Amino acid sequence: MPRLSKQERNSGCYDERAERMDRAERTALQEQAALRIFRHAAGHAPGYKRFLAATGVVPETVTEIGAFSRLPVLKKNRMPEFHEADPPFGGFLAVPAHQLKRIYVSPGPIYDPEGRQEDYWGLRKCLYNVGFRPGDVVMNTFSYHLTPAGIFLDEACNGIGCVTVPTGVGNTEIQVKTMAGLRVSGYIGVPSFLMSLIKKWEEPGSGAGGDLPLEIALVAAEMLPPSLRAALNAYGLIVRQAYITADLGGVAYECPAEDGMHVSDDLYLEVCDPLTGEPLPAGSIGEVVVTTLGNETYPLIRYGTGDLSALAEETCPCGRTSRKLRGIMGRADEVTKVKGMFVHPRQVDEAAGRFVDEVEKIRLVVTREGVTDVMTVEVVLKPGVAAAESLKCGLEERIREATKLRGNVKFVAALPEGSKKIEDRRTWK
Ligand SMILES: [Zn+2]
Repeated sequence: MPRLSKQERNSGCYDERAERMDRAERTALQEQAALRIFRHAAGHAPGYKRFLAATGVVPETVTEIGAFSRLPVLKKNRMPEFHEADPPFGGFLAVPAHQLKRIYVSPGPIYDPEGRQEDYWGLRKCLYNVGFRPGDVVMNTFSYHLTPAGIFLDEACNGIGCVTVPTGVGNTEIQVKTMAGLRVSGYIGVPSFLMSLIKKWEEPGSGAGGDLPLEIALVAAEMLPPSLRAALNAYGLIVRQAYITADLGGVAYECPAEDGMHVSDDLYLEVCDPLTGEPLPAGSIGEVVVTTLGNETYPLIRYGTGDLSALAEETCPCGRTSRKLRGIMGRADEVTKVKGMFVHPRQVDEAAGRFVDEVEKIRLVVTREGVTDVMTVEVVLKPGVAAAESLKCGLEERIREATKLRGNVKFVAALPEGSKKIEDRRTWK
């Protein structure tokens, strides 16, 4: 028997008032908070002060949200350079370092500071809203040292009344025995490892077997393809995603609708043109740019995550009024703009996905004829597959669906060794 029904896990909010707040009221509050945290950062974080000066911004002139949204985006991929120039935090820390609670080591090398404020990473609401409940016994399979994921999700579990079993990564056999021995109801980690654990559970002689006690899983840091979610659901398990980063904590989370991720109320989130930093309307794909509204320790203002997504404006059947992110669609630094539309390698793969039996390799070549961008789709067919006109038409149609652009399919014998998914041959002289 499950400990809790799906209905019990799917109902209720972590913070009813904040999550169901009228949209206009939330926007007004967030805009005020964004300006306030900007002034705090400009006044207390020497690194941010330098960044503004270098980009010609006079902080005193930023007094309304329009000016705020024109502030230069602080790109995450430039942080290693800033941190190296002024170690250890690039001057972005806005409190004395001895006031910190922890310091994590992220690749880069970047040090991520954690302040002493309660629920510093804003992860309690992510856990509760995906369906974790007090009393859940939760195996946290994220690493507990150097990088933050293990400890910060552990603290969030404890914050909402769950019991954690800090297992960290690896040791599949011990983890499976633990799952059985403690009747573990919750899993936190990457989706692929969750599947490995379940497969191990099913192996004869694993020491486990019987009904799987797991009821709820929060997965992050890896893609969750619909097929994998369906396979995990088949074990009677709810599997939901969250968008969590080492520098921002909980950015967005899935609700029972499982259709996009609600943006955390603690953040002012814009989706912007990755090249100009200009905010884009809902539905457009762009870079996720985040301002941490309540973080006075390490305030990040218009922080360009490098992740691509789009905002959805529609109201959600779950009753939460925050906007939703339509999943993470790739990295901004891999994106190309063709005829004014962003094209990402993943869209090319998506187009080829319908033709797994026919297509061996695919890439997109962007050229320019006069002032017009031209997209050629080079396709290597699998041995024995004929270069038929119908296949060409079918591929072109899928390319158009995936990218909203016309591409001419050209069958080729091979692609150059190590070629990129999108080859941009345009020159801009
Ligand atoms: Zn929802």
